[in-house]
Amino acid sequence: MPFISPWIFILRLTRLLLAAMAINASFALIKPVLEKSVYLSGLIASPPAQHLRIPVDRVRQRQLRDTWHAERSHGRRHEGIDIFAARGTPVRSTTEGIISRIGTNRLGGTVVWVLGPGGHRHYYAHLDQVANVRTGERISAGALLGFVGNTGNAKSTPPHLHYGIYTSRGAINPFPFLAGKSSSDDAVHAAS
Ligand SMILES: [Zn+2]
Repeated sequence: MPFISPWIFILRLTRLLLAAMAINASFALIKPVLEKSVYLSGLIASPPAQHLRIPVDRVRQRQLRDTWHAERSHGRRHEGIDIFAARGTPVRSTTEGIISRIGTNRLGGTVVWVLGPGGHRHYYAHLDQVANVRTGERISAGALLGFVGNTGNAKSTPPHLHYGIYTSRGAINPFPFLAGKSSSDDAVHAAS
């Protein structure tokens, strides 16, 4: 074995220790990113729920009206459900997931998008205000997203939540999922 001076030995040991510390520190930095990507892939791979909680506080199943594909202006069809409630009523996520977008658009006004199980995208529109949530945040079902309003093209109607569900094949009718009568086949037929 070649002779190594104690100083070189100490120097090498220090380098090793520093390298180990650097690996540890970078792991601490990437750990949340890793956890999020593991959660995201599990979320997309998991089957979408057949029963969803009603996203507006104090609204009962029997109060829901199926307005899927009702006619709208400019030849559009209604791609969701309108749930009427007093302005400021809490709006909660129907599923767990990740907040994918918070913003405004002409039709929806103030909106929040949640990426949920099965890669379904859940759309909450006409909000009066957004709750204390951030884009990229992981949430549970029932998390407070915002408050009922009439922003966007709902400004001449009473306050309501427009709730939509989008799959990779387009919008599906949320009503059966909220009314507890869903079968995925019905939902797919409704979309086509
Ligand atoms: Zn609507």
